[in-house]
Amino acid sequence: MFEKEKEQYLKEHGFEEMHLKAVLFDMDGVLFDSMPNHAYAWSHSMTQFGLKMTPEEAYMHEGRTGNGTINILTQRYWGRDATPEEMDEIYRAKADVFNQCAEPPQMPGAADILNKVKKSGCTPVLVTGSGQLSLLDRLNKNFPNIFTKDKMVTSFDVKFGKPNPEPYLMGLEKAQIRPWEGFVVENAPLGVEAGSRANIFTIAVNTGPLPDQVLWDAGANLLFPSVQALCDNWEELLKTFS
Ligand code: CA
Repeated sequence: MFEKEKEQYLKEHGFEEMHLKAVLFDMDGVLFDSMPNHAYAWSHSMTQFGLKMTPEEAYMHEGRTGNGTINILTQRYWGRDATPEEMDEIYRAKADVFNQCAEPPQMPGAADILNKVKKSGCTPVLVTGSGQLSLLDRLNKNFPNIFTKDKMVTSFDVKFGKPNPEPYLMGLEKAQIRPWEGFVVENAPLGVEAGSRANIFTIAVNTGPLPDQVLWDAGANLLFPSVQALCDNWEELLKTFS
């Protein structure tokens, strides 16, 4: 299984073979079912600044850094970028609402796939645009002994954020692998685009409200309807891509 997808990827990128050594996981919408909270927080915290974001738009921007998203709004409603002080204030307001939301649950299948990846000798790496400290803490509580600090890329590390390939290029560096030695697991169009532009085989898991086609169009090499489905296919993937 998945031979066709592998061949297509190799041909597209001019690589000879894949040797899977690491899996680069996005966090929101992949490991935690946290996107509804993010969409709520964005849509409820912007009006006090004269800005507006619908929950639907929040899903479209998923994966961008907070600052990148804020500048899109201030450009639209203020006609200019936010100053660093304004960015801090606006992002803090969003984070405050987010932190008041009920704790987002683990995505079904997330703990299982992380443990399977680790057990098979691959390195799990976290690559997120999030700077939510509370969520990073939860990560280690929910998935103990999976991620080490030197195998995490967060909004504190990156300058551009998704859809720029930078976060995933940094993920490759932290995993000490080359593009054909890893998978990216992503749920959002901008994240899929970032993984694909980093020349990594990118697996989309469609855990949100967007149609599959949006993720294919962003460059997904393979698509599963859930993280659980990815988990169920891990052994097959390993067989084909090792
Ligand atoms: Ca995501």
